[in-house]
Amino acid sequence: MSPQKIQVKDSLLVIDWSDGKKSEIKLSNLRKNCPCALCAAEEEEQGAKYIPLYSGDQLKITEIKIVGHYAVSINWKDGHNTGIYEFDHLRELGGSK
Ligand SMILES: [Zn+2]
Repeated sequence: MSPQKIQVKDSLLVIDWSDGKKSEIKLSNLRKNCPCALCAAEEEEQGAKYIPLYSGDQLKITEIKIVGHYAVSINWKDGHNTGIYEFDHLRELGGSK
């Protein structure tokens, strides 16, 4: 299972998967679930009730790259580019696991 097509449509990341499923993930949700160490540490620090507010460049994607056979790397316009999203994680976020 791998992405066949990845598009940004308004505030959504839309992924067509090789098995015919489709994931639609809100960019704010994608950013909130950024799996990089930096974001994980921030979430830990703020606790479970933390609701991050993102705006402007933090919710714009400038580049998407496939990493190996298992993940997607996303560059955000504010310069944040350390998040590597595994395919399984994206499916989970898109509710089509
Ligand atoms: Zn991050």
